[in-house]
Amino acid sequence: MSPERLEPNSPLTALLGIGPARARGLAAAACRTAGDLLWHLPFRYEDRRRRAKVGDLDGEGSYFLVGRLGELRRLRSRRRGLTIVRGWLEDGSGRLPVVWFNRPYLLEQVTEGREYLLYGAVRQRGSRLELVNPTCERSAEARCCGRIVPIYRSLGGLGPATIRRLLDQILDRMELQDLPERLPESLLERYGLPPLGEALAMLHRPAAETDLAQLNERRTAAHARLIYGEFLELQVELALVRRLETRRTKVHKYRIDERTRGVLRELLPFRLTSAQQRVLQEIVDDLERPYPMLRLLQGDVGSGKTIVAALTLVLAIESGLQAAFMAPTELLAEQHFRTLARLLGKRYRLALLTGSAVDSDRVRAELADGGIQLAVGTHALIQETVEFSKLGLAVVDEQHRFGVAQRRLLQGKGNRPDMLVMTATPIPRSLALTVYGDLALSVIDELPPGRKPVTTKVVGLGSRRQVYAWLRQQLEAGAQAYVVFPLIEESERVAAESIASMGERVREALGRHRCAVLHGRIPPEEREAMMESFASGEVRVLIATTVIEVGVDVPRATVMIIESAERFGLAQLHQLRGRVGRGRVKSYCIALHGRLGAEAVRRLEVFAASNDGFRIADADLEIRGPGDLLGTRQAGVPLFRVADVVADREWLERARRDAQELVRGGRPLAVAEPLVAAVRRRAQSRYERFAGG
Ligand code: ADP
Ligand code: MG
Repeated sequence: MSPERLEPNSPLTALLGIGPARARGLAAAACRTAGDLLWHLPFRYEDRRRRAKVGDLDGEGSYFLVGRLGELRRLRSRRRGLTIVRGWLEDGSGRLPVVWFNRPYLLEQVTEGREYLLYGAVRQRGSRLELVNPTCERSAEARCCGRIVPIYRSLGGLGPATIRRLLDQILDRMELQDLPERLPESLLERYGLPPLGEALAMLHRPAAETDLAQLNERRTAAHARLIYGEFLELQVELALVRRLETRRTKVHKYRIDERTRGVLRELLPFRLTSAQQRVLQEIVDDLERPYPMLRLLQGDVGSGKTIVAALTLVLAIESGLQAAFMAPTELLAEQHFRTLARLLGKRYRLALLTGSAVDSDRVRAELADGGIQLAVGTHALIQETVEFSKLGLAVVDEQHRFGVAQRRLLQGKGNRPDMLVMTATPIPRSLALTVYGDLALSVIDELPPGRKPVTTKVVGLGSRRQVYAWLRQQLEAGAQAYVVFPLIEESERVAAESIASMGERVREALGRHRCAVLHGRIPPEEREAMMESFASGEVRVLIATTVIEVGVDVPRATVMIIESAERFGLAQLHQLRGRVGRGRVKSYCIALHGRLGAEAVRRLEVFAASNDGFRIADADLEIRGPGDLLGTRQAGVPLFRVADVVADREWLERARRDAQELVRGGRPLAVAEPLVAAVRRRAQSRYERFAGG
């Protein structure tokens, strides 16, 4: 009696060999149905199409051999923690030595005299050949030879061989061709991709003529179908989320005409770069639409995002609306407030709202009755007690420090206000498309004129003396500098003490030049006074923790010394370096480091080699993988089962473009209906999760 057919949603217990216990194990690995298991793809393939004979081996290479094992024994190794098992393989045509490293359990699993299938590398050792670390399977399973064999990772407590048997069963008992194909046929045709069922079958049971290298490098059309499909689903979902957020018409309107343009021109302290102009136009186009803007502004450190934000704020205020500008730290909020007050203070009423800003009761009353036109602040802006009378535009600086929930709280302060969010740390485009895919994207890809690239030097602690001697010379010549220490201690209090004492040592090394020590525990008034005297040039050296990491803008500072640079991430290092090189004078960044691990070496190499934040972000993504880079937005990141945002970014770009075509203007094309129906429920729940905080 042949077992019954399987459907994609058949429970795993319908498979022979799966009882309740194993099913529970698999369920814990998010695998509940036969269809789920189909997505557990082989991670590599072995070429067992041709069986080699020991007697015919004529050199190194990967071989598939079948024979009996004998004289297996464990050897002592001089290296601690290393186990070696040696033995012989005999197949009637000859004997070949076999060696396994770190697989002591083989001795129990293998029965001498029985036939096994072995696949692995044959290497020359002295004058003879030997088989090194081969995989080893009982030959009773005929499925394991005469073909390209898929190799699986363990899953839910089941080993690779068991998983392969289960998948063989599924492939025998399920009509993969009948799996619903949600991708529009036209798109599959455009890229020459097989439909879903066919793709899965090709990967679990590759045809004998399949190119092995392509399989192992995930470059077959079948791989592409799955990768592209995952990206496209997400991109369609993001397009739908975006539609949910932006389809309801806003109640406020902008008046952007010759008069407002004149106001902007009058306020501008310099000419915008063409990238800034282009981005500003993208924003204006959004503001004039009937739907709220939801736009991400990316740009490298120092590319001049603040002025673009400032002009956008002016457009709102000139249209009779209130505007808000939220920054992640008090230091930054204070600096933005100073900059904006200088720029706009004569025309409009501005207020600063931070945890420690005084007068907040009066400020709140004036915000609520519309007297204050622009509120600059930290999280204090999203407290419950803060009310606006007609918030039309909200700008969030350094978005990566805030979560989506905070963004939404700020949105909630108005009636569908326009939103502009800015990132300091460029994130790789591939990641931006996945994570911020529901936002429209503007990029400032040009620095203001006259900038000279910062010269970066990475040096070991041994050179510290020289570094400070050089710094002294720079100071004599009129330079201003930052010296940054990482926060090493757990508690802020201890950290404050330790930076204070390190600051003392730096001060001594620098002689008569005025230094100030800045950290998180300095009271706000003192901090402000400090920043002002550094900005005016009275204080020559600012010794600081990473409180100055983002946003601080003192164009006359030209030297950045980073202590214990190995403790900083790549993006952080680049941000810190971004504090200098903001004017027309040549700037330097010296990264002093202690002992380095392998990853730190790569990080510092990339840092020294490039000044380009986008390139650095790409390298960072490659070094660390996507998880780490996402910060607070991480919670919303979908996990791909096959796709990889780094390796498969071309498919991501295509999917992004195609999704926009499919869901143009929020209205899905008919061919996209199956896809849209599938992602809609997921999108809805994601949206609600974000909405709920
Ligand atoms: P970021 O993008 O890192 O936030 P900022 O907005 O702080 O950069 O700008 C960096 C510096 O460049 C500031 O001192 C700003 O005044 C200056 N700046 C910005 N745009 C221009 C421009 N078009 N021409 C000259 N200087 C500019
Ligand atoms: Mg900034």
